[in-house]
Amino acid sequence: MIQIDALPAFTDNYIWLLQDPSSKRCAVVDPGDAAPVLGWLEQHPDWQLTDILVTHHHHDHVGGVAQLKQATGARVLGPAAESIPARDVALVDNDRINVLGLDFDVYAVPGHTLGHIAFYHAQTPAPLLFCGDTLFAAGCGRLFEGTPEQMHHSLGRLTELPDSTLVYCTHEYTLSNLRFAQAVEPHNTDIAERLAQVSQWRSENRISLPSNLALERLTNPFIRTHETSVKEKADERTGTSNPSPSAVFAALRAWKDKF
Ligand code: ZN
Ligand code: FE
Repeated sequence: MIQIDALPAFTDNYIWLLQDPSSKRCAVVDPGDAAPVLGWLEQHPDWQLTDILVTHHHHDHVGGVAQLKQATGARVLGPAAESIPARDVALVDNDRINVLGLDFDVYAVPGHTLGHIAFYHAQTPAPLLFCGDTLFAAGCGRLFEGTPEQMHHSLGRLTELPDSTLVYCTHEYTLSNLRFAQAVEPHNTDIAERLAQVSQWRSENRISLPSNLALERLTNPFIRTHETSVKEKADERTGTSNPSPSAVFAALRAWKDKF
């Protein structure tokens, strides 16, 4: 059974550390900084880093890759469509890779960046999703390179995954995302409850991740664009009728950028 821990980096990044206790091999996702990973490896000298998974090219996700590869010889797997330091395996949509004995499906999820990918392992009872800066807890990534339509489509693909899917995103943005979610849906009690819960956790400096897709379906406005109340709020903001969930998504994303 794989164990997953978060190594904090910078102010609000998490480097996900996947550990296989039976073989004492581990893998990391999006090591923007090598130091937290090297520190962990120093404290666990009998463990070997075998794989480095990368979701997209931003510095806070790849900044530690070259140094980690040099120090450990780990294999670097990342999107084919982006420039990734020291990449060994260039991944495209629907590729399947094996990491620590687990099969992961690769999904192209353009929007935050154009080549952004996500990694999905379909285990029961709780599948694993490493989605970088695409789907966040109660939010989604900014559109640096892609269009709202692309991101809306990418999120739609991720939300086809089972309710029980654990969502391992890269940033601790949950609290500010929930404040925005509450502005969009002031009468949504699931959002209010989650906001109270996450406020409590964050006041104790506890991590708010992983999330799961069931909870995201109830509280994440960016995947609730089909809800009448969300559409009406988006219409109120834009002063027009947003005719499609994708247009509602675009209105929400533009609003959130200035929130
Ligand atoms: Zn990013
Ligand atoms: Fe990031």
